[in-house]
Amino acid sequence: MKFLLTLLLVNLSSVAVAQAPRNLCKEIATELRELRPPLFAGRQRLFEYQQRAGIVYHAVADKIFNSYLAQDIKPKAYTDCFHSKNMSAQVERLETLLPGAFFFGTIRRLKLSSSESVRLFATDVEKALNSGSITFLDISVPSDSNSGTALKFGGFHRGQNGLYINPNQLPSHQWNLIFFHEFAHALDDSLRSAVENEAKSPLIPYLERMAKKGVWTEADEEEVRTRILSSLDRGFAAEFRAWIVAASLYYQTEKLPSVEWFEQILQFSSRFEPATEKIVYDFLSPRFVTEPKGVFADPRIFDVLTSIRESWDEVLPKMGPLKKYITYQN
Ligand SMILES: [Zn+2]
Repeated sequence: MKFLLTLLLVNLSSVAVAQAPRNLCKEIATELRELRPPLFAGRQRLFEYQQRAGIVYHAVADKIFNSYLAQDIKPKAYTDCFHSKNMSAQVERLETLLPGAFFFGTIRRLKLSSSESVRLFATDVEKALNSGSITFLDISVPSDSNSGTALKFGGFHRGQNGLYINPNQLPSHQWNLIFFHEFAHALDDSLRSAVENEAKSPLIPYLERMAKKGVWTEADEEEVRTRILSSLDRGFAAEFRAWIVAASLYYQTEKLPSVEWFEQILQFSSRFEPATEKIVYDFLSPRFVTEPKGVFADPRIFDVLTSIRESWDEVLPKMGPLKKYITYQN
């Protein structure tokens, strides 16, 4: 243990006050440097130090989140900060606190909304986080550096029910939108059961068996339909639902900075209404096309897929339990 003899002269009030920091890295480095553990101290002193350290680290993590949202720090500030001199020893501890500061900080803000759907969403996310049903949270760069640019903003790992949003890449005015989208995935029971179904019995080997089968019974066709529907529930339909939830909450959250690319997709509609759902559907649909290749080269299998997709052109995919976060505006 490398405890040093230093009095705990940490000015907590300066940590808690939200300012507009010009050089956040320097401020944080100073705050953390002043936080030195006592050397040769008794049990009580050490306990006091640990308590104080906990408060300071949490306050610093909150400060980073607030500065990010207030756009006082540029994207990449975290990486730059964390790799600066004098910081590395403390960074590890701070980094473990940052996801909590970012995610629970967002929840705290959303719970103050005047919109019931927004408050409900925030409460449900909080419950899911506290119950451990979301298995990991990260705000750093994903280790898989091959992922596309869009993925670098954030992502939801279907198999692990974990998510990350990366403030190093994501401009802060888009934070809430991406938060809504990724956590909508995390709260999506239809997605969860589709993932479980796939794990139990993967679709492609099943379809390969069906492609080899001579004549299908009605029951065969029904099962193929159910299985393809379930697979769409992991892909296209899951994305549709998560973007609908994101759009509905985006419109209902007060004082949210506008996200131009998103409003462009929504054709600059002034409110969230059933027509907005159709706009989102029409945008996503051509981006999730399955070619008649592989098992889908079998015309019977391709027909089932096509008939499901065509039925959605008339009646949009069901929102399932996520419907409770949707509020239409008049
Ligand atoms: Zn998504």
